[in-house]
Amino acid sequence: MVQSKVQLNSPVLYLRGVGPQRAATLAERGITTVGELLNYLPFRYEDRIRFTPIAEIVPGQVVTILAEVAPGGGGTVRFKRGRGPVFHLPVRDASGTMHAKFFHGAYLQDRLKEGQRLVLHGKAEYDFYRPTRLEMINPEIELLGNDDAAADSTEVGRIVPIYEAIAGITPRMLRRIIYGLLGILERDIPDPLPKEIRERYRFPSRREALLYAHFPPKDEDIENLNSFRSPAHMRLIFEEFFAYQLAMALRKASDHRQTGIALRVREDKIRAALKRILPFKPTGSQKRVLAEIVADLEKPYPMHRLLEGDVGSGKTIVALEAATIAIENGCQVALMAPTEILAAQHYLSARRIFEPAGYRIELITGGRTKVERELAALRVQVGQAQLVVGTHALIEEGVKFEKLGLVIVDEQHRFGVLQRKRLIEKGIAPHVLVMTATPIPRTLALTLFGDLDLSVIDEMPPGRTPIETRWATEERLTGVWEFLRREIGDGRQAYVVYPVIEESKLELKAATAEYERLAKQVFPKLRVGLLHGRMKNEDKDTVMEQFRRGELNILVSTTVIEVGVDVPNATVMVIEHADRFGLAQLHQLRGRIGRGKHKSYCILVAAKTIKGEARERIEAMVATTNGFEIAERDLNQRGPGEFFGTRQHGDAAFSFVQPLRDHEILEMARREAFALAENDVRAKDVAARLEALSPAWQQRYRLASVG
Ligand code: ADP
Ligand code: MG
Repeated sequence: MVQSKVQLNSPVLYLRGVGPQRAATLAERGITTVGELLNYLPFRYEDRIRFTPIAEIVPGQVVTILAEVAPGGGGTVRFKRGRGPVFHLPVRDASGTMHAKFFHGAYLQDRLKEGQRLVLHGKAEYDFYRPTRLEMINPEIELLGNDDAAADSTEVGRIVPIYEAIAGITPRMLRRIIYGLLGILERDIPDPLPKEIRERYRFPSRREALLYAHFPPKDEDIENLNSFRSPAHMRLIFEEFFAYQLAMALRKASDHRQTGIALRVREDKIRAALKRILPFKPTGSQKRVLAEIVADLEKPYPMHRLLEGDVGSGKTIVALEAATIAIENGCQVALMAPTEILAAQHYLSARRIFEPAGYRIELITGGRTKVERELAALRVQVGQAQLVVGTHALIEEGVKFEKLGLVIVDEQHRFGVLQRKRLIEKGIAPHVLVMTATPIPRTLALTLFGDLDLSVIDEMPPGRTPIETRWATEERLTGVWEFLRREIGDGRQAYVVYPVIEESKLELKAATAEYERLAKQVFPKLRVGLLHGRMKNEDKDTVMEQFRRGELNILVSTTVIEVGVDVPNATVMVIEHADRFGLAQLHQLRGRIGRGKHKSYCILVAAKTIKGEARERIEAMVATTNGFEIAERDLNQRGPGEFFGTRQHGDAAFSFVQPLRDHEILEMARREAFALAENDVRAKDVAARLEALSPAWQQRYRLASVG
């Protein structure tokens, strides 16, 4: 039967090899159309034009061999104590014989008969017990049809794409389905990428790129394919990111057409006000960043700026300086923080700094009583208050502004795009400053927040001694507590952090129980406080305030202190079960110390026997205090998928793009997108056609347009 041609929007259900059941499986992965299936690229390519003959294998090399099951039957299953069944499979080709071993491979037993052709891919090594014999342990295995010539055209004699299985659909099935589909793909599938860009980078057409990325021509460089740098890959990555950046560029252009509030800055009165509020001499970084912000505020369209700076780098004062300018221009300022503790802290420091200047500050958080909140909201609405600090309670209906001129969002990654948007909409095109202590590498920041301008504080306030980080085991805790006692004797304070609040089955030490024990048994003569997320807000505030004033020596806590808390006299942080925390989280926690002039110590408590990523995290923490390095390691560990996840729920992940791997292509794409956006009509047309390529892209466009 000759199948008719398919388009990108044809359903996969009617493809050869896809029935209702597989269609359902694919749909669960977000694949319902041909276009979506084609966006599912192989993760690896195998050169099956020239297989390595068994006799030529060099131990330690990763090889692909074409062999058949050797005499001796379908292999044997032997049981090794403690390791479960191991399936031994003798294979041979014209040049020699070797063994493959599969742990937990019993399932293979009945499927392999002598003479069965197969492809093995993996590392060949000498057998540990018989060092003259080569073996492959857990190689990837693919059984070939013995007489199916058609199948051979996808399996051997070419560069073969290796897909990741989707539930029950094996890599081999996927390969066949996609191969079949490419044969009937309509000739003229749309190519929305502008011609001059395609020519400038010598990109293949979209159709060709899809064809080649799935079934590369024989002469394609296998290394390029496996590093996703073939022309086909480059084009697909470029295109997807270009689409995203184009949406950002258009949005930015439309921001610039909005009429904002051009603030006056160059007046003596304002300069004097700025000077007056500064409690210390700003660092070079702080000055530079403030100058960037000031330049934005003077413009007749709204600022959209991301201020990035490691924990403790002094972002708050920069934000308050920006607030001063807005207030002196007769505008109101909203400062939103992700937690009650942080909002309360900002409120207190803003009062300290601003009240002498005669500004009125309000605090609006969910923890305050309804009456308090309503009264505060009223004072904001009639313009009696100049600065409003709060949590997401700020975005509630009842909070209205007389003239909101500047919105500041602290630790912005904790908020969703829509939450930020709602706050911004309480003004008429206010200036927006978002701040983050997640030190995102620059290229990645552009990827995530391409529509924002970026300012980076890359210098710490003077007089800080670097934090010393140590890895201690539980057995050494007595020594750790002794150390705490000495530091406290010298007038310092300490945090002790636990991963959970109440004791659980996991046998993790819980903050509450440990607090009791530390307070009564370990430090009976010291003042110990407890802070966790389930406490009442007033209690949290009280404890935090006591700690800030130095009335508590030790604060036992969960991760509620993770963001932004600033008590410079605290110099020790003990984190128990440190292996339970993520890298970014550990770094944030550690950022609570090292904020004053005294040397600070971070002690990570974890067994020396921990392995894998947990071990890498602790080692990274001990090795560096540089937030950018940590962020990069964190990204490498968790992968950008999850990182994007932290931006906002429902953010569609990219199909082709991996920001860390692809940052060079990303920069190219960004440049081109912003250049194209200068021609509004043309850019909008291209954007619309790119958006039509995939529903996932459409979703990203929508998010990009509210960012
Ligand atoms: P973050 O960037 O993490 O929000 P903060 O704004 O809380 O950091 O600042 C950390 C600490 O450093 C605060 O105690 C702040 O008062 C202090 N600080 C900030 N800038 C300077 C400076 N230029 N000189 C001295 N201390 C500073
Ligand atoms: Mg902060």
